[in-house]
Amino acid sequence: MSEIKDVLNIFEAEDTVEFWNNGDIVPTQSLCRFLEERIVFNEELDNQYQKYCEDNALNCGYRSALAFAKSLGGVGLYGDGEPVAINTYNHENSLSQDIQYVYWEDEDGSHILLEVHQGGSPMGNYGVPVAFDVDEYIFMDNQGQIYCENCEERWFFDGCHFISDSGDRLNDYEITEEEPEYPWKVGSSKPISNLLWVDDGHNDHCPYCGTVLKFGGY
Ligand SMILES: [Zn+2]
Repeated sequence: MSEIKDVLNIFEAEDTVEFWNNGDIVPTQSLCRFLEERIVFNEELDNQYQKYCEDNALNCGYRSALAFAKSLGGVGLYGDGEPVAINTYNHENSLSQDIQYVYWEDEDGSHILLEVHQGGSPMGNYGVPVAFDVDEYIFMDNQGQIYCENCEERWFFDGCHFISDSGDRLNDYEITEEEPEYPWKVGSSKPISNLLWVDDGHNDHCPYCGTVLKFGGY
């Protein structure tokens, strides 16, 4: 389990969510957990990439990763176009560390050469690219769910709003900094009040039962 974390030098991070009294909801996904659900180390491909860099006197980095993917006849997502280079710094995401990778598909499936940003300027300071097999969920880096461990209600993040299966939007609640009267009726189809309690620790409390809400993947 710790293999991906060590190989890529990923910092310790938990899945967390912060709530602000202006209604902002800021989720953070543990990069380690995110990747463990999506990628598998491909040693053979990794060796092949390193040999490619040596043979061509290239630095191991995103440019050589892109050239390598093309040299294998790799194509883009769903077989379209060319291999793609992604840096999560360039779009909204909720990962605990930014990542940069080249994604391609070939006869053997879908792969990435992945580097993890080690802090400081996003222009540099990435590790050495490492090869993994992957699925398209690698691109879904701004999703997840807020959930209540007590009453099992959950709100799914679409990159903008948190919405439950029944259409309840967490973002639409009126924020209160005072603790409302809990417990409200667990199991009712709708919360009894539209109040959402955000406490001093930027925790939000379940509108059904008052339990502190948590955030996790998918
Ligand atoms: Zn609850």
